[in-house]
Amino acid sequence: MRQVTLLGATGSIGLNTLDVLARHPDRFAVHALTANRQVDPMIRLCFEHKPRYAVMADPDAARELAERLPAGLGVTVLSGCEGLEQVASAETVDVVMAAIVGGAGLRPTLAAARAGKRVLLANKEALVMSGALFMDAVAESGAELLPIDSEHNAIFQCLPPDHIRDPDGAGVRRILLTASGGPFRETPVASLASVTPEQACAHPNWSMGQKISVDSATLMNKGLELIEACWLFNTGPGRIDVHVHPESIIHSMVEYLDGSILAQLGSPDMRTPIANGLAWPERIDAGVGSLDLFELGRFRFERPDEDRFPCLTLAADAFRLGGTAPVVLNAANEVAVRAFLNGHLKFTDIPVIIEKALERQAPVAAESFEVIFEQDAQARQLAWSIVEAQA
Ligand code: NAD
Ligand code: MG
Repeated sequence: MRQVTLLGATGSIGLNTLDVLARHPDRFAVHALTANRQVDPMIRLCFEHKPRYAVMADPDAARELAERLPAGLGVTVLSGCEGLEQVASAETVDVVMAAIVGGAGLRPTLAAARAGKRVLLANKEALVMSGALFMDAVAESGAELLPIDSEHNAIFQCLPPDHIRDPDGAGVRRILLTASGGPFRETPVASLASVTPEQACAHPNWSMGQKISVDSATLMNKGLELIEACWLFNTGPGRIDVHVHPESIIHSMVEYLDGSILAQLGSPDMRTPIANGLAWPERIDAGVGSLDLFELGRFRFERPDEDRFPCLTLAADAFRLGGTAPVVLNAANEVAVRAFLNGHLKFTDIPVIIEKALERQAPVAAESFEVIFEQDAQARQLAWSIVEAQA
């Protein structure tokens, strides 16, 4: 029986993970569920999944949860970042699903990695922020880092298991990272400035949290994924080609020196990569049905339009610049997306804010997590001031 901690249980990845776990009560038990401040959904999840711990990042929400949960349920309520780190690193825990959105996920995900857990990484922002240091922490503790992002999980499945971080040894020529293109792939450029948060969050193929939905619409999601792939598979952006594939059935591909291209296909359903990570190297039912390729008929591929969607280029440039540039990129993006969702910023101003933040906060060496957290906080402040000036 494997004990699972679920960071970000009330979110889109969190709920999909619980769906898979509930199909295999003989294999997995829920040790802890965590959320930011959504008390009602957390109460429902505690009744359904009976974790030993429930953690609310927000202390007021934790107090309310503790008051409202019946003592007889046997759930201990913890709060704050310490609570998150505690359930991510507890001795009895085998698997940690890292599904908090944004930089807030870095500390608890790092705690799981340092404690040598199987870390199922959905929280791409954590790796974008701390790349080399995070991978070092994984290597030092012997943690098992398995990608849950559908593209990275696909690449992982297309690589030989003993050469995941050794593209040369595996004979890899390049990685083909697929992208849906998001909801505005065909929207006239002139209309992009006036798109609404509702339109941006209405992804054609995937149902996801708001932040990643906006990232998919700006293509920053692909930019963050490009950086994520560089760290996970020990390669550079020059060896990764983004292919827009509007059907979202091929989740990514690996091309080898002999010309072979291996691909992983499946319905756009996150339960597939989640089940893959939970059971790896075994296979378990994810609740995902068979794919009807006859119904689908054909696959399309297009080059990404980097003039229309500058975020992809901004991300690749930040990775190449190195040091804390990706920290600034990520922080400014989180701030700009929040401002857009709140109605304070135009969609087309998101890359403008990021570019200005990158210009004004020069990267420094990412020599410690302290530096990363400092630079992150500074970049968020800077980005808010740029948003205010822009508005
Ligand atoms: P979501 O917004 O649906 O859920 C986020 C979860 O994080 C919630 O449980 C929320 O309570 C928690 N949370 C938010 N802020 C927090 C904070 N400050 N402290 C502690 N907890 C906090 O997001 P999602 O779509 O499930 O995405 C989660 C992560 O997985 C993101 O990094 C995203 O990029 C990645 N991801 C998601 C998908 C998807 O299909 N949704 C696919 C690939 C990768
Ligand atoms: Mg993805």
